[in-house]
Amino acid sequence: MQHYKIAAIPADGIGPEVIAAGLQALEALERREGTFKLDVTMFDWGSDHYKKHGVMMPADGPDRLKGFDAIFFGAVGAPDVPDHITLWGLRLPICQGFDQYANVRPTKVLPGIASPLAGVGPGDLDWVIVRENSEGEYSGIGGRAHRGHPEEVGTEVAIFTRTGVTRIMRYAFKLAQSRPRKLLTVVTKSNAQRHGMVMWDEIAAEVAQEFPDVTWDKMLVDAMTARMTLKPRSLDTIVATNLHADILSDLAGALAGSLGVAPTANIDPERRYPSMFEPIHGSAFDITGKGIANPVATFWTAAQMLAHLGEAAAAARLMQAVEAVTGAGILTPDVGGKATTQEVTDVVCEAIRRSN
Ligand code: ATP
Ligand code: MG
Repeated sequence: MQHYKIAAIPADGIGPEVIAAGLQALEALERREGTFKLDVTMFDWGSDHYKKHGVMMPADGPDRLKGFDAIFFGAVGAPDVPDHITLWGLRLPICQGFDQYANVRPTKVLPGIASPLAGVGPGDLDWVIVRENSEGEYSGIGGRAHRGHPEEVGTEVAIFTRTGVTRIMRYAFKLAQSRPRKLLTVVTKSNAQRHGMVMWDEIAAEVAQEFPDVTWDKMLVDAMTARMTLKPRSLDTIVATNLHADILSDLAGALAGSLGVAPTANIDPERRYPSMFEPIHGSAFDITGKGIANPVATFWTAAQMLAHLGEAAAAARLMQAVEAVTGAGILTPDVGGKATTQEVTDVVCEAIRRSN
């Protein structure tokens, strides 16, 4: 029996509701597969911890996570705690401290969920966006000079390193290679930004040599938004900078039908540290406690976690169960249904139990 140590951090808002749902589905999978066991440790970090102790997590928080095989994360953010405290106090120190440089965001139109694009259904939109998660436009480097004066200048410096770009490019090519279509689109803005972005294009061409069986092309980020909307079938795997992929993945989520179904994995591909798996959505205090949060994004990220741990069959079984349930129209209100979080979770667990 294979044992995996999982750190669960439900944190704020609907985070605890969707993580509870995710853990139920994972338990059903454990029982169905019978080949692995998840040893889950719960951490009560987040905004409530901040209100009691003045910090989102203890100072040795990252150290305590180091020995785990993966982190299963809910959401952070609370109406009465500033965003920079919630984000920089918990999520970002984990991403950065564990050098989770590949942010992997699969998007597809699930059965039973309508895309706002006419005529686009399951199979027509099936992408994975790879976001550079460690440098680029979010380097934090920059400043303000002559504050408040007419000559004031603000700079926001994007830092791209050969090491950083090469490693994300290699990750993206490898991922594209593992998917049936072996298709990669590299997104930059190298017509207008003539330094770092041109370096991205050059490194893409270099890394492409290592993957002769992957078909790849380059797109400018502005044209990319039109292509995603007008020709979704022409895309498969996509790699982009921290900022560009941030924007494109919101578009992707909207085109796939809802924020409530979008997962994300923050991966350390070298496996020096635990990787972190979470739904893309935030704490959604407007629906917290109502029992109607959509658990699908969390199921999907749980599948990403299983795949990362090497349990590909369990990951596939979970996604098959989720797609059977959405396809049967058992949906939460955000995607047009009437079911509660628990109802969706129960039928997903039942589908897992009954699967071949
Ligand atoms: P945060 O500040 O943590 O990002 P937020 O409320 O600003 O939180 P989200 O939590 O990402 O932003 O949600 C935006 C809207 O989408 C919310 O108003 C919520 O109703 C809806 N939403 C998000 N996630 C879900 C979900 N899993 N199920 C149903 N609705 C959701
Ligand atoms: Mg938000």
